[in-house]
Amino acid sequence: MKRVWVATTLGLIILLNGVLGGLLSAERSADIRSMVDLASLTTAHSAEHMDEVLQIAERTIFVVSEFMRVSERIPDLEEFDIHRLLVHQHRITPILRSLFVVKPDGRLTHDSRTPHPVGVDLHDRDYVEYHLNGGADILFIGKPVVSRTDGQWMVPVSRRVEDRFGRLVGIVAAALDPEVFSAMLKAFPLPDGMQAAIVSPSGFVFGCLPSMDCLGRSAGDWPLFLHHEQEPGTTASTTRGSILPGVTGPGAYQVSPRYGIIAAANIETREAIGGWLGRLPVFFLLDLVLSGGGAVLSAILYRQVTRRRRAMLQLAEANARLEQRVVERTVALQRSEERLTAFVSTARDAMLVVDGSGIIQFLNPAATTLFGYAAEDLIGRTIDLLLPCQLRDLQDPGHFAPHGMGRQAGVRELMARHRSGVEFPVELTLGASHSEGEAIYVGVLRDIRERKAQEERLWELANLDPLTGLLNRRAFMGRGAELLEEVWRQGRPVSVLMIDADHFKSINDGFGHQAGDDVLRMLADILQAAVRGGDLLGRLGGEEFAIILPGADGPDADRIAERLLADVRQARVAVPGRILAITVSIGISVMRRRSTLDDLLATADQALYAAKTAGRDRRAVAA
Ligand code: GH3
Ligand code: MG
Ligand code: MG
Repeated sequence: MKRVWVATTLGLIILLNGVLGGLLSAERSADIRSMVDLASLTTAHSAEHMDEVLQIAERTIFVVSEFMRVSERIPDLEEFDIHRLLVHQHRITPILRSLFVVKPDGRLTHDSRTPHPVGVDLHDRDYVEYHLNGGADILFIGKPVVSRTDGQWMVPVSRRVEDRFGRLVGIVAAALDPEVFSAMLKAFPLPDGMQAAIVSPSGFVFGCLPSMDCLGRSAGDWPLFLHHEQEPGTTASTTRGSILPGVTGPGAYQVSPRYGIIAAANIETREAIGGWLGRLPVFFLLDLVLSGGGAVLSAILYRQVTRRRRAMLQLAEANARLEQRVVERTVALQRSEERLTAFVSTARDAMLVVDGSGIIQFLNPAATTLFGYAAEDLIGRTIDLLLPCQLRDLQDPGHFAPHGMGRQAGVRELMARHRSGVEFPVELTLGASHSEGEAIYVGVLRDIRERKAQEERLWELANLDPLTGLLNRRAFMGRGAELLEEVWRQGRPVSVLMIDADHFKSINDGFGHQAGDDVLRMLADILQAAVRGGDLLGRLGGEEFAIILPGADGPDADRIAERLLADVRQARVAVPGRILAITVSIGISVMRRRSTLDDLLATADQALYAAKTAGRDRRAVAA
C-alpha cells in the first residue's frame, strides 16, 4: 500500500515536472520565436528602405549623368552648369551627403558642396576604378571610405557617363552618410544583445549595431557569406544558427531585391532567452512549491486514507462481532422460542392470550381441546365466548385478587363454556403483560371438573352420613349453631325436634342389621320429605335424628311433630319375610332465650325421654 502510494506520488510529481518542463520549453521557444520575428521584421524593413535610398541616389545620379551626356556637346556651358545642377540636385535630395563628378583621369572635378574642388585624385577608389576599368554600366556601390574632402565616413555610389561614341566622359557619384544605414536598423528598437548589420553585395559593412566599429570592414569571412546565400530577394531566418560573426542564436537576414544590400540581425541564444532565464528561478520555485506541496499533500492524504482504512477495518470487525452475536442471539432466541412453543403446545393446561379489549390473540392446542373449537374459530373473537359474562373481570386483573373462589393470588375459579354449551369449572391463572406497548393478558385455564368432584366427595365424607345421606352430627352441629345465631339475630322463634326410633334394637335383633339400615334410610326419607327449605335436618347418631325449625314456635313445632309421627306411622318397610311398621318418639325444645344448640338438644332430649316413658309414638314438649 505504502509503496504504491509513494510510487503514485512520485509518478504525479514527475508528471507535474514534465508539464512544467513542457511549459518552460514552450516559453523558451516562444522567446526565441519572438526574437526571430523581431530580427525578420527589422531586416525586412531595412532592406526595403535601403533599396529606396539607393534608388533615390541612382535617380539623382542618372539626372546628372544625362545632363553631362547632353552638355558634353556644349563646351561653353559645361563647367558652371554641372556644378549648378549638382547643387540643385543635392538640395532636392538631402539624403545624400554630397553629389560629385570624377573625370576620366580620376580627379574630382565637381562637388555639390564646393564650387571649385581642388582636384582630389580619386582614381584608386573602388567606385572610380570600376568605371575606369570599363565595368558594366550599373550603379556601383562602393566600399565605405573616409572622404578625402571632408575626412568623414561615406558610402559611395557611382555611375559612368559615356558620350555617343561610348567613350568615358566622367563618373557621377554620390556620398551617402553611413548613419542613413544604421538609422534604418534603429527604426525598431532592438532588444539588448541583438546585433544587426548592413552589408554591401561586395561584402563591406555599411553599418552595424550596437556599435559602428565595423564600418568599412570586410564581411567576407562572416557566416553570412560563408554559409548563406546572397541572391537578391533572399529572406532567411534561423533559431540557432550563426549569421553575424561570433553570434549563435536566433536571427534573420534579407537581401534587398533591387541592389542586393543585405540586412542581418542575430542574437546570442543566451541573450535571446534572458527574460526566460530570469523567470527560471520563479519556475523552479513554483516547481518546488508544487512538488513539495504535492508530496506533503500526498503524505497527509496517505495518513488520512490509512486512518480511515484502519477505522473501516475496525468498524467491519465490530460489525462482524455484532453480526456473530446477533446470529448467536437469534439461535438462542429460536431455541427459546422452540422450547416455549413445545412447552405451550404440550402443556395440559389451556393457554390464552387476549388483548386489552378481550379479543383472543393466541391459544394453545390444549385450549382448542378444552373448549372444542378450532384455533381459527377463536382467534379474533372475544373471551366472552369462552368465559361468559366475565369479560369485565378479565380486563381488570385487580378482580383476580385472592378472594371468593380464588385459591391463590392471581388464581380464580370460573365457569367456562364448551362449544356444546356445557358449562364447567375452570381455574384461571391470569397475568398481565405488554406487547408492543399494548396491554395483553395471559390466561392459563385448568379444567377442574375432576378436582371439584373429588372435593365434593371429600366434603360428603366429612359432612354427610353415609347411610342416609343426611348431615352427620358434626356437620349438623356446625351449621345448626350458625343457623340458630342467625335466626336469633332476626328475632324469629326457633324450635328443635329430637327424633328417636322406638324399639329399634329389636328390629336389628329380629330382622338383622341390614333391615335396621333399611328402616333408618326410610326414616331419613320421611324426615327429608317433611322439612322445608330453611329447616336443618341431621342424623345425630344411631337411630337418632334432629331437625332445627327456624320460625317455628311451640305450637308450630308441635304440629310438625304430630305430622311426622303420622307420616312414620303410616310408612312400611319390607324386610326379608315381613312388612314392618315403625314408630318414633319426638322431643320438642323451643328456644325461649338465647341458648346454644347443645342446650336446646339436651332439653329436647329430656322431652324425648319423657315421650318414651309416656309410651312412645308420641311427642313431648320441653317445659
Ligand atoms: P327405645 O325404644 O327405648 O329407644 O329402645 P331401643 O331399642 O330403640 O333403644 P336402644 O338404645 O336400646 O337401642 C338402639 C339400637 O340401635 C342399638 C344399636 O345396635 C342399634 N343401632 C345403632 N346404630 C345402628 C345402625 O346404624 N344400624 C342398625 N341396624 N342398628 C343400629
Ligand atoms: Mg336411641
Ligand atoms: Mg330407640
